[in-house]
Amino acid sequence: MYSLPEKIENLVPYEPCSGEYRIRLDANESFLPPDFSLYSDALKSVSLNRYPDSTAEKLCESFAKFYGIDARFVTASNGSDEMLFILANCFLSRGDKVLTLSPDFSMYDFYASLAECNLYSMPKREDMSIDADAVIKELNSSNYRMLIFSNPCNPTSLGLAREDVRRIINSTDALVVLDEAYMDFWDESLIEEAQNYDNLIILRTCSKMMGMAALRVGFAIANDKITAAIRSVKSPYNVNSLSQAAAAAVLTHGDMLRSNLKKIISSRDWLYENMKEICENKGISLSKPATNFIFFKPKNAANVFDGLKAKGILIRKMGDYLRITAGSPEENKELIAAAALLL
Ligand SMILES: *Cc1c(COP(=O)(O)O)cnc(C)c1O
Repeated sequence: MYSLPEKIENLVPYEPCSGEYRIRLDANESFLPPDFSLYSDALKSVSLNRYPDSTAEKLCESFAKFYGIDARFVTASNGSDEMLFILANCFLSRGDKVLTLSPDFSMYDFYASLAECNLYSMPKREDMSIDADAVIKELNSSNYRMLIFSNPCNPTSLGLAREDVRRIINSTDALVVLDEAYMDFWDESLIEEAQNYDNLIILRTCSKMMGMAALRVGFAIANDKITAAIRSVKSPYNVNSLSQAAAAAVLTHGDMLRSNLKKIISSRDWLYENMKEICENKGISLSKPATNFIFFKPKNAANVFDGLKAKGILIRKMGDYLRITAGSPEENKELIAAAALLL
């Protein structure tokens, strides 16, 4: 009789959410989808009978141009999620030591475990900030092969200063996977200097600030040697032609993206200021967000979550904490009005 491998025996499919909600503030998406007219011509020119461009050349060039970097350091993937899977399975061997920080994006531990690595998830400070010196000390205490963390962090919404990230990368021979999924909302990126390190891979995505989560497009930025290795191990046609065409076209509209970014940031600031006022009255602490979402620990997370859900508003509950994505101004207003009665 066939039996499943032990490592996947007890896994269950990922279920982001089920049911219909009027207001979705649970997945950190942008509330501003790019206008169809910006990519409709690009879609029309796609030949569905042909395999995609395996190098996603146009897409990588549009991405590189938007950030003012060289496309030779850029590799596209089917969401950064696929890149995490590739890195865990091809850049690590069974039993390799992997360091992650806690709390952080749950997929890091998931993929490292699936790759049968020896994982240590190191707790962050009490206030959820990252202690760079403690991370360096841990890296040097053992033969780690990889460190993965997000900056700014999902779910804490806190950022680590560029100089601290540089110190961490320079302190170790381990490969540092620096997930900058939310760096568009902050200003401490290492994207322009990624190629200067021999042990750094930066991940970026079109799913958050750019408003293209549906396309599943992510990127890895690294030096020539690491980039060649990523391109050699990825599956050849990992990014489909429709996504390549649409994302490449949208990425050429830098002014539109920057204008949307401003709108998301002002929505985020409004959400933060208003939630902070409610929280302060209840003795709940709320840190200034470095992303497009807020993260805090109310007195009773389950009550707030369920109460919002009953009103058709979906947010994310993570243990005793809540994570709420900045929505449109109208969505934020509804959320705040409802939360004021529940918190
Ligand atoms: C949303 C998110 C991503 C993006 O994943 P995609 O697969 O590109 O949609 C990556 N890392 C973190 C920390 C995220 O929150």
